[in-house]
Amino acid sequence: MSDLTPGIRPGRLDQPVLDANFSDLHPAFDRHEALVASDRCYFCHDAPCMTACPTAIDIPLFIRQISTGNAVGAAKTIFDQNILGGMCARVCPTETLCEQACVRNTAEEKPVEIGRLQRYATDVAMATGKQFYKRATPTGKRVAVIGAGPAGLACAHRLAMKGHDVVIYDAREKAGGLNEYGIAAYKAPNDFAQRELNYILAIGGITVENGKVLGRDFSLDELKQRYDAVFLGIGLAGVNGLNVPGEDLEGVEDAVDFIGRLRQSKTKADIPVGRRVVVIGGGMTAIDVAVQAKLLGAEEVTICYRRGKEHMNASEFEQDLAASRGVTIRHWLAPKSIIGKDGKVAGIEVDYTTIRGDKLVTTGETGVIAADQIFKAIGQKLEVPALEGLRLEGGRIVVDEEGRTSLEGVWAGGDCVLGGEDLTVSAVANGRDAAESINRQLMAASGRAAAVA
Ligand SMILES: Cc1cc2nc3c(=O)[nH]c(=O)nc-3n(C[C@H](O)[C@H](O)[C@H](O)COP(=O)(O)OP(=O)(O)OC[C@H]3O[C@@H](n4cnc5c(N)ncnc54)[C@H](O)[C@@H]3O)c2cc1C
Ligand code: SF4
Repeated sequence: MSDLTPGIRPGRLDQPVLDANFSDLHPAFDRHEALVASDRCYFCHDAPCMTACPTAIDIPLFIRQISTGNAVGAAKTIFDQNILGGMCARVCPTETLCEQACVRNTAEEKPVEIGRLQRYATDVAMATGKQFYKRATPTGKRVAVIGAGPAGLACAHRLAMKGHDVVIYDAREKAGGLNEYGIAAYKAPNDFAQRELNYILAIGGITVENGKVLGRDFSLDELKQRYDAVFLGIGLAGVNGLNVPGEDLEGVEDAVDFIGRLRQSKTKADIPVGRRVVVIGGGMTAIDVAVQAKLLGAEEVTICYRRGKEHMNASEFEQDLAASRGVTIRHWLAPKSIIGKDGKVAGIEVDYTTIRGDKLVTTGETGVIAADQIFKAIGQKLEVPALEGLRLEGGRIVVDEEGRTSLEGVWAGGDCVLGGEDLTVSAVANGRDAAESINRQLMAASGRAAAVA
């Protein structure tokens, strides 16, 4: 078995190679490296990095705390705003968020490494098991949170701090949402998603019920009757189709499902991958599935994107990462049909595309790329049968600035809401802010001042 063996097969690479391929993308700083990196911060007064962080972490403060040897204090500064600061430190596209705004870019084209410093501080605190937050006196209020992804967890933690009892229902076997089933394996190795989950739940007052599906096991109406408030953090469980002939052939797969299986595999040696892999899409999921297919031992991996490099949702850093791992990115190509042989994928026929006026059109030229595995990575969609009476727009839930939906007593946040950025850190911000809004409303309704944690 090697990268040249045709078909979709597991075990193309030896275990030591797989282990090395799926190890930490950005190894952690040690104490000395963290001190040196923190020394580069100017501690700007009007820090633009803070504004660029969706959770508004006080970045200059936590970096100063690291520079004075107070990593645990730095972690508290981070967790005050973002209880999933450990995961965000690993997965945030910092090059388009906080680090893009760093003033060091102007003089030196190299920002302060905010993400890695954040990881250093949160790792130190989590390793000691240090808990910074206690529950307020129980309020007697009960809140149902649907979805145990970043949005749901951030919401549940903030509500627990305020003294409310929270029950999280999640469809899947394990909690964590895409932190557990979606993020690329080399960004969160060593079971970090579950370790972070346990750290968050340690506050108490939060019960997690796995394998419970809204729309199958209970309805929104039932939840509204049983709880004082409901938060929907259900992400986007459905997948967009290519809608081209041959999509049903063996070997055409959904990228997010594949990544989920890969994440749940301990060794990666049991995950079958093609010799020639084609990925359709231009976002983070396309890059992640392409890079991981290559790391599993595929000989050729080609991403086909229907527009130009500058239109890709994947950041420059992600595109460079893919190129550095041997992935080819081809632009201005759209899928026309999947070519099959004996019921299995043998290749893909593509249309060349261009922009005329302001419209994306096909040029009339076509091409063929040989493939035995094709991944669909062209976006996800909301998929819940029972969102009675909720206002949706563009397939997402409409919320106001506090995360309130069109239904009284129901809030929502994260990927499932309209206007979201589809990032872990944005989901955390939504969940946290919705919890504050829920708390205000519950406390006002019971005639008490808003609970202060
Ligand atoms: C492959 C991939 C890679 C990504 N990589 C990055 C990255 O590197 N950096 C980054 O910032 N972002 C990344 N993202 C985006 C990020 O993962 C999401 O923005 C984030 O997870 C959204 O959080 P959420 O809580 O809204 O939803 P999710 O994480 O999707 O969690 C939703 C939860 O709701 C549950 N659920 C759904 N429907 C129901 C139901 N009917 N009943 C009960 N439970 C239900 C699901 O089981 C799930 O656990 C990636 C996304 C994908 C798909
Ligand atoms: S949470 Fe993300 S965007 Fe915010 S400071 Fe940390 S790494 Fe940067």
